[in-house]
Amino acid sequence: MLFDLQRFFSMGASPTEKRFTADLSARDFCGAHVPAPIEAVFTAERQEDEVWLHLTANAEVCGVCARCLDPVVRQQAVDAEWTVKKKDLEDPDFELPRDEKGQLDVEEWLYQELLFQIPTVLLCSTDCQGLCPVCGKKRQECSCQKAATSTSADARLSILKTLLN
Ligand SMILES: [Zn+2]
Ligand SMILES: [Zn+2]
Repeated sequence: MLFDLQRFFSMGASPTEKRFTADLSARDFCGAHVPAPIEAVFTAERQEDEVWLHLTANAEVCGVCARCLDPVVRQQAVDAEWTVKKKDLEDPDFELPRDEKGQLDVEEWLYQELLFQIPTVLLCSTDCQGLCPVCGKKRQECSCQKAATSTSADARLSILKTLLN
């Protein structure tokens, strides 16, 4: 979705609210993806010589756990606002994405906000213990650690036995 900021500065007397659906399924979010279309709401409101922009959305982010590689699905909310002054439109370093005609690329803004919000390290749960280096299964499911513990207990026992002898 494109929004003509220049035009809104000169003619936008009343606030604008646009609901749109963004398809960012082909975009990469540091390895995570958003396969389903995102419902978003974009608002623009002129306040004297400034325009206040507001963008909200909810996305279902799909990735893999950084520790155990299980699939992770999490809801990610976006709630971003920006105040633009008219002179900002002439600024080559203006931080919001615009097309070659200077129109605000709202979908690209949504992508950037999401990219910023989604954690670079996704976890299936905060206490995920990852994979066992011995058997490659999830640590919670494998028995290597228990085996290792019992072996060391046996070792201690055998020292005791030696001492007793
Ligand atoms: Zn995990
Ligand atoms: Zn194991």
